[in-house]
Parts: sequence; structure tokens; C-alpha cells
Amino acid sequence: MGLGRTEEVKKKDRRDDFPNKVKQQLAKRVGHKCSNPSCGQATSGPSLSTPETVNMGVAAHITAASPGGTRYDSSLTSKQRRSYDNGIWLCKYHGDLVDKDPATYPVELLRAWKTVAEHKAGVEVHRLPQSVEDEASEPEQREDRLENWLGGIIKQFGLGGIDSFPSKRGKQTAKRLFEMDTTSALSGVESIVNLINSSPKVGNKLQVVMGPGRCEPNFVSDGRLQLAESIRRCAKEIVKQFPDNYSNDPCAAVLYPPNWSDVPLTIHYHNLSYAEILALREDREYVGIITANVLLFSEDGKCLLVHRRSHQSAHYSGALHTFGGAFIPPGSGPREDHSGIRRAALREIFEESEAGIYISNQTPCVVIDEKHIQFIQTAFLGVNVSPDQADSLKRNWEGDQIRIGFAQLKDKMLDMDAWTPTGWVHVLLWLALNAPGSRRPIRFGGDSSADLSRSIIIQCL
Ligand SMILES: [Zn+2]
Repeated sequence: MGLGRTEEVKKKDRRDDFPNKVKQQLAKRVGHKCSNPSCGQATSGPSLSTPETVNMGVAAHITAASPGGTRYDSSLTSKQRRSYDNGIWLCKYHGDLVDKDPATYPVELLRAWKTVAEHKAGVEVHRLPQSVEDEASEPEQREDRLENWLGGIIKQFGLGGIDSFPSKRGKQTAKRLFEMDTTSALSGVESIVNLINSSPKVGNKLQVVMGPGRCEPNFVSDGRLQLAESIRRCAKEIVKQFPDNYSNDPCAAVLYPPNWSDVPLTIHYHNLSYAEILALREDREYVGIITANVLLFSEDGKCLLVHRRSHQSAHYSGALHTFGGAFIPPGSGPREDHSGIRRAALREIFEESEAGIYISNQTPCVVIDEKHIQFIQTAFLGVNVSPDQADSLKRNWEGDQIRIGFAQLKDKMLDMDAWTPTGWVHVLLWLALNAPGSRRPIRFGGDSSADLSRSIIIQCL
């Protein structure tokens, strides 16, 4: 008997089950609903005959709790495997299904479900005015958009054979060819980065400090910062003067310029509000803000999707740039980007337009130091959106979303003043990398992406 019990404990020990606290956190952050967007089943409610409750949900592991399990990731520590980050709340049916069919439900898809489910629950709890109105007036359309988005993700993963190439070449061959191109372009882009950094037209406004490459910086939180009374008072004054102007938004503030030559690049930050950063800048030479951007394009729609800055903007009013916004560090409330910088880009786009995008591990990442306005910008170069996703961006971003047809891109890029300096550099690097994210070589008017990047460099830098 004694021995049997020990065996049982040992066996149990090998599974990294979630502690109760994590299960509760997973369930509550999605309002106790199944996170599969085409399900959304309520998983918690009353017993109909006793005062007890009924739970029909499970905290499912994104990567398995024990070796040999579904989507097991041996690189995680036991603690990481038991953490909130590795879980997703599902109904019993979908909890079972995602484990039985991991090919259809890979890690990336489950993470995307989790992000969307949490966002939807957040909108419901916090009653963000526009979204609630939206929901009341056009629930069907919202569903459609989500469907479109999931369709887009399934396409990006090549799941279910939906996305086969129309060419005579086999799907796999074409894919491998393309990946080879991008890899060789990644190593060849260094000289272009040097040209950008030393160009008098661009290099005094920004420096490309990392990449483009397949890794991203380490962001390290140094917690909140104790501010002097005078700074706090100044920040309150700013909030009072600009109550609607994002002044209370949480940001990641960098107090000292990082050592850009560190590999990997490590950036320490403190959690502060935008107003506190503005107040602190009165006092200090340097207070950087971490931001995240993504270059969106539609291969099928044959266009680049960019945003035009408002004419009231402090910097570069009316200029074109890539979509994105400030990174909201973990520990600063319901919108926080707990899983990192990629989530910041994804969240910004989802909040503004409800278009869901997915940034794959293959998407090149570049870090730019916008030294004169003290932004540290991480950008992901090349997310291919479906025409449906592009349409949902347009509906929600209204007049500020601009589509630049591939055939018109050269003329637009030769007019450098139409862009923010970073937006212009993002597009140039994307072209120089052979337009990563696309499924086959794109033509820009008569030019290949390499031809186009060369002529832009010759005429502009
Ligand atoms: Zn479900």
C-alpha cells in the first residue's frame, strides 16, 4: 500500500500540472468562456438543483505537461510549463480536441485564440465605448471578421491544404525556394544598413541598431520607478491639461540608452505613464519609449498598407508610417503585453481595427533608435494580410489607412518627405530582403523587389 502510494506521487510529479491559482487566472481572463473563437461556450454556471456550481471548462496546456504529450516543448522549465503563459482556457470538448489533433491546432494558433479571447473579454468588462456599440449594431459582421482572420491564420500555416500554389511547382519546393531567398538576403542586407546609418538624410534622425534578423531584443523590466514629488506633480498637471490625449497610457520607459552592441541586445525599462515620461524628460537628457510596429502588405490585394499620421501629431504630422504603437509592459493593467513585443504590435492593430494578424518566427525583426524623438522602435518586416483583413483595417481606421499599390510604390518611396523616417526605412529594408512574408516573388511595376530597393538607394541615399 505504502509503495503504491509513493509510485502514484512520483508519477504525478512528472506532470507539470497548473496550480489552482493559474487555472483560475486562465478562466477568469476569458470570462469563463471557451477560447476557441468559433465556440465561446460558457463553462461555468449554477447547478440547477443545489447551490453548487458546475464547471465544464479545462485549463489546457499549450505545450504538454509531460514528455510524450501533445506539443511538448523540452526547452521549457518545469515552472514555465506550469505557468499562465503555457495555458489556455477551453471547454471540455475543445480541450480534448486540440490534444488529439495537434497538426490542426499548433502552438501558434492556440496562442492566437488566447490573445483574441482575452481581448474580447477585456472589451466586455471595460466597456470600451466603440467596441460595445459595434457589437450591438453588427454582431454578424464581427463574427465574419473573426472568421476571416482565422482563415488568414490557417492560410499562413498552410494548414488543411487550403493554400496551395497556383504554379506548376509543388507547394513544398516553392516554399523552400522562397525561404532560401530570404535567408541569403538577411546576410546581404548589412551593407544597406550601413548606408542608411551613414546617410546625411536619414542617419541624423535614426540609427538601425539591431537586425534585420530572426531574433528580437531582450526586454528586462526594472519595475516601477520612484519619482520625485516635483515630477509627480508635473505629470498630474499634464494629465489635467490633456485628459483625452493618451497621457495616462502605460509605457515602457528607458532611462539610459542601451549598449547597442550587446548581443543579444538587452533593453532595461521601467513602467511609467506617458505623462510621467514627459515630466521626467524635463529633468533628464534621455527617457526613451519602447514601441512596436509591423509592416503590413497584401500580396493578393497587390498593395502595402500604411497609416497616415494625424495632422495634429507632434512629430511628422501627415506622414506615412507602418502600423503600431507603444509597448505596454507587464504589470500595467488589462491591456498589458504580457507575452512581449510581438503582442504589442498585434494588440495595437487589433484594438484599432479588429483585424487579427499573426507575426511568425520567420518575420525579420529590426530595432531602430529614433534618437531625436527618443523612441526605441522594434519593427516586424512583412506580415501578409488577406484582402478581407485589409478591408476590415480600412473600415475601422477610416481615412487614415492608406493603400499603396505595388506599381506606385517606387514613386512614393522616392518622395522621402511623405514618410516618417522609420516608416521609409522599414519599407526599404523589406524590399531589400525580397519582400519577406510573401508566397512568391512580387513585381513592383516592372521591377523585382531587389531592383526597386537598389534604385531607391541610388536616388535617395
Ligand atoms: Zn469550445
